Amino acid sequence: MSNYQISENMLNLGTENAFVVLARAAELERQGHNVINLGIGQPDFKTADHIVEAAIKALKDGHHGYTPGNGILELREAVAADIFKRHKVDINPDQVVIVPGGKVTMWHCILMFGGKGKEILYPNPGFPIYESAIKFSGAKAIPIPLLEETNFSFDPEKTISSINKNTSLIIINSPANPTGGMIKKELLDILVKKLEEFPNVSILSDEIYSHILYENDFYSMLNYQSILDRLIILDGWSKTYAMTGWRIGYGIWPLKLAEQATRLNINSVSCTNAATQFAAIKALTGPQEQVANMIKEFNTRKNLIVEKTNQIPGMHSQMPEGAFYTMPNITGTKLSSKEMETLLLEELKIATVAGTSFGEYGEGYIRFSYANSQNNILEALNRIHEYAIENKWG
Ligand code: PLP
Repeated sequence: MSNYQISENMLNLGTENAFVVLARAAELERQGHNVINLGIGQPDFKTADHIVEAAIKALKDGHHGYTPGNGILELREAVAADIFKRHKVDINPDQVVIVPGGKVTMWHCILMFGGKGKEILYPNPGFPIYESAIKFSGAKAIPIPLLEETNFSFDPEKTISSINKNTSLIIINSPANPTGGMIKKELLDILVKKLEEFPNVSILSDEIYSHILYENDFYSMLNYQSILDRLIILDGWSKTYAMTGWRIGYGIWPLKLAEQATRLNINSVSCTNAATQFAAIKALTGPQEQVANMIKEFNTRKNLIVEKTNQIPGMHSQMPEGAFYTMPNITGTKLSSKEMETLLLEELKIATVAGTSFGEYGEGYIRFSYANSQNNILEALNRIHEYAIENKWG
C-alpha cells in the first residue's frame, strides 16, 4: 500500500475471517468438491413467506424511495412494541435507529465512542468486528477474556479492574458468538452495580442472539434503570428471522445519541432499504411459529454436534446456552486453531472458523456453526472422527 496516501486508520482495519472461509469453500465447490459448511453464522432456513410478501407488496405499493435516516416510524413503533412485549421495558420509538444490518449499530457506536486516547473493552474471543472497528477508530482495544473454565462467561470484577479514565465504552455480547456462552443475570447485576461507579463509561449490549436460547431466559441490559442514559442495544432481524442478506438491524440509543447515530446513517448509507423495512414490520408483528421451529431444530442439532464432537479424540465441547455455535477445545489434537481450520477445509472439505479469528483468547479452539442440516453435521463429524483415528489424535 506504500504508494497510496491512504489513511493510517485503514492499516488497523481487520476483517471477518468467516467471509474468507466462505469464499474458499465456494471455490472448492466450483471445483466439484462436496464442502460441508459449518463456517458461516447464518440460519440455513428461508425467510418466512409472509415476510417476503410484505416486501413485494411494499415495492408494488410504491415504497421505493428514501426513507427517513432513522427508519420509518411504523417500524420504529413496532420495535418499541416488541421490546415491551419481550422485556416489559418502555422505550420511545425515537430512540430506535434502523440500520442496514446489526453490524452497522456496532460500527456507529464504536466510531462515536472511539478515537485516539480512548479505550474500549470488548469480549475476546468475540465477534471480530469489535476489535477491528475499535482499532480503526484509533482507540485502544482492551480484551475481556471469555474462558472455557467459566463456561465462556466473564469475570465482572476483573473486567471492572480494566477500566481507567480513558475508558469510554464496554461491549457485552450474550448469548455470544463464537462461544455460544451466556452471561448469567447474577453476573450482569454485579457488573452494573460496579458500572454505577463509572458514569463516564457507556455500554454496548449486543443482543442479536437474544431469541436463540436453550436453557435460560434472556435478561436484557435494558432492565437496568441506572445505566439507561448510557446504554446502547444492538439487535436485529438477521438471525431471529433468517434475514442475513436483507441487511437490516436496529440500535436502541439514549435519545441524544439517537440523533448522532442518525447522522452517521445520513453521512454513510442515508437510510435502510425501504422494502426491507416493511418486511421487518411484518416479521415483528406477524406469526412467530417459524422462529420457534427454527430454535427447536437448533436445539436438536446443538445436542447432536456436542455429542459427536465429544467422541472425537483430542476435542471436547462445552454445551452452548444460546446462538448456533460451539467452540470445541482442540488442544488435544496438537494442532493450532489455524492449522485445524486449514486441515478441515482443504483435506476434509469442511468449512469452520479458527478460534483465533475471534481474538487471541480463541487459540486452541475451532468454531463450528450448526446452521446446517443434521445429516450434514453427522457427515462432517464422521469425516473428522475417521481422520482423528487414522492420525492418532488425542
Ligand atoms: N453481532 C454479532 C455477535 C454477530 O455474530 C453478528 C453476525 O454474525 C452481528 C452482530 C451482525 O449481524 P448482521 O448480519 O445483522 O449485521
